[in-house]
Amino acid sequence: MPELRQNFFTKEWVIIATERAKRPEELVMHRVAQPVPAFVADCPFCPGNESKTPQEVLRYPASGEPWAVRVIPNKFAALSSEVQPTRSLQHLRRRIAGFGFHEVIVDSPDHSRYMGLLPDAQVASILRVYKERYNALSFDHRVNHITIFKNHGVDAGASLQHPHSQLIATPVIPSQVRHRLNEALRHYDDVGECMFCQMVASEVEDQTRIVLKSERFVAMEMFASATPFATHIFPLRHMASFGDISEMELNDLARVLRTLLAKLYVGLENPDLNFTVRSGPAEYSGARHFHWYVSVIPRLTRVAGFELGSGMFINTVLPEAAAEFLRKVAVDKVAGAGAGQ
Ligand SMILES: [Zn+2]
Ligand SMILES: [Zn+2]
Repeated sequence: MPELRQNFFTKEWVIIATERAKRPEELVMHRVAQPVPAFVADCPFCPGNESKTPQEVLRYPASGEPWAVRVIPNKFAALSSEVQPTRSLQHLRRRIAGFGFHEVIVDSPDHSRYMGLLPDAQVASILRVYKERYNALSFDHRVNHITIFKNHGVDAGASLQHPHSQLIATPVIPSQVRHRLNEALRHYDDVGECMFCQMVASEVEDQTRIVLKSERFVAMEMFASATPFATHIFPLRHMASFGDISEMELNDLARVLRTLLAKLYVGLENPDLNFTVRSGPAEYSGARHFHWYVSVIPRLTRVAGFELGSGMFINTVLPEAAAEFLRKVAVDKVAGAGAGQ
């Protein structure tokens, strides 16, 4: 029988349509892999073309040659750090001058290597750079929210082939984010505990939706997953801001994120996907009610009229079946520790 499930923190309802339920195997992309070269002469992100990008914000290792990760301003930035976030209100029309930061993080010098196929140490370097930029931009009092994300594949919005991530810092807190923060605070007021810590503990005990667990992180399907194979990674230690991740946690997250991306890559044959770091604002450091996480969303289905008209999703894959499928995908032969070095 079909069933409606409620997302515990957004309070949104999802239809799990078991009548049209698909076995996870039915969503495999069956793509013919196109060979991608490791170096492309006219790619602005490939080594040797550093002068073709806007001036570098940072590189890792610092002033390192060759570099492992580079951060540059987005040449086609959605927002500009050159303007001030001046606010105005005219009748009902509220505006803010388009202030913000839009940066590109080049994942590695290798044009062909998707993050899920990089060595764990390289993924850790990328995460270290995320943290450094997150904390640096959080100090700017004009910044109210920072989104770190990756678009992998055309259907996920990637316009350049060279693997990269992005960061957008905005002068406002998006209402979707504010809603989650408010729900988390309401739960804390009612129960006296972080709802994410509670949920993670009960899911770890239940096991059925767990994809993988390390000493410090757990990756799982959500009980009311809106789309097939949407997987969340939570730190096991309570932490409201991504900026507070420790060096040991960072290395552990690199392993868990890379393994999950590799499982999706192998199991579903390189689906387009987005992932995003969803963190409380930096000044939430120490807040007891919110808990940051990473959400990984494969783009296997299209949003249609019902979703647009209601905000409610129909998911045709049982989250428990997706978790079981991903647990079984073996990835020890692709990248990870030491591979490709
Ligand atoms: Zn390139
Ligand atoms: Zn927590």
